Amino acid sequence: MASEQPGAPEPGARHRSTTAGSDAAHAPRPASGALTRTGGFLCGFTHTLQPYIGCSFGCAYCYVQGLQVHRFHQPPLEWGAYAHPRTGIADKLRRELLRLQKKGALGGCSIFMSSATDPYQPAERTWRLSRACLEVLGATPPGLVVVQTRSPLVRDDFALLHALGAHAWLSVTLETDDEAVRRALTPRCPSLAQRVTLIEQAQDAGLNVQIAVSPCLPLRDVEGFGAQLLKLAGARGRVVVDSYVAGDGQGGRRTAATATPALHAAHAWADWRDQQQPHALHAWLQQRMGDRVGWSQAGFAVLPALLAAEAQAAGERR
Ligand code: SF4
Repeated sequence: MASEQPGAPEPGARHRSTTAGSDAAHAPRPASGALTRTGGFLCGFTHTLQPYIGCSFGCAYCYVQGLQVHRFHQPPLEWGAYAHPRTGIADKLRRELLRLQKKGALGGCSIFMSSATDPYQPAERTWRLSRACLEVLGATPPGLVVVQTRSPLVRDDFALLHALGAHAWLSVTLETDDEAVRRALTPRCPSLAQRVTLIEQAQDAGLNVQIAVSPCLPLRDVEGFGAQLLKLAGARGRVVVDSYVAGDGQGGRRTAATATPALHAAHAWADWRDQQQPHALHAWLQQRMGDRVGWSQAGFAVLPALLAAEAQAAGERR
C-alpha cells in the first residue's frame, strides 16, 4: 500500500542508477517534521507518518514511483534502491502531538503509517524509528493510528500496538494467494506464508487487524483465497480489497508507468487493468463479512470514519 498525493507530470526521464550499495542510498535524512496532512487517496485520515524515505521492498507496482518524493530524489536511483531513515522523527512527532493536544485536536487525529514507505522494511531493524514513533504515540495517543506493513518485523512491536488498544490497527498487506505471482512482482518482500503467520500471531496477540489485498494481484482461486481471508480476519478483523486501477490514485495511469503491465504480459496473466478478480473477491467476502470488508479508498477510509462518528456521538452526549 502506498498512495498519497497526486504529483505533477513526469518532467522527462532521468537516468537512474540501480546501485543501492552506496552510502548515498541509505544515508540518514533528519526529519524536518513528522506528520503530513493527507489528501487524495487517504483523505479519510488526517495525517500520514513516514519514518523512512524510499522503500527497499521495491514492489514493481508501487505508486510511490510516480510521486514527487521519488521522481525528485537525489541522487537519481531506481525505486527500491534507497531507504533513508528520517532521524529525529520521534522527537518531531512528540512536539506535534502535544501541539494537537493543546488545541484539543488530538482525539480527532487519525494517522496512516505509512503511505510512501513500509515502516517495517529491513532498515527498521537498525534504526527502530517506527518503534520510537509508536512509543511517542503510546504516550500521547491520537484518535487512531493504522500501521500498514507487509513485514513480520512488526512483531517486535506488538506490545506497543497492544498498549494503544482501540486507538491502533495493524493492517497487513496480502495481495495474492499465489507465491509465484508474489515472487514475480515483489521479489524482495516477505513470502505470503510469513505474512499469513504474522496475521495469525497478531490475532492471537489481541491486536485490531486489517488485511489489505492492495492491490489485488492475479489469484489462483478467488473463493479459496476468500475463505482464507475470512478465516484470518476472524470475528473482528477487517479486509480491504483494491485494484491497480482503483487504488493507484490516478485511475491506473501510475501503474501503467511501472513494470507491471510488462510483467503481466510476460507471465500471460490477465490484463493488468482487468478488475474481474478483485471485484469477485470483494463480492464473495461482502456476502460473508458485510461491512467488515471494504473496497479501495472507501474501504481504507472506514476506520477514520468510525472515529469521526464516535467523536460526534460523544459530543452530542455531552
Ligand atoms: S512495501 Fe509499500 S511502499 Fe514499499 S515498495 Fe512495496 S508498495 Fe511501495
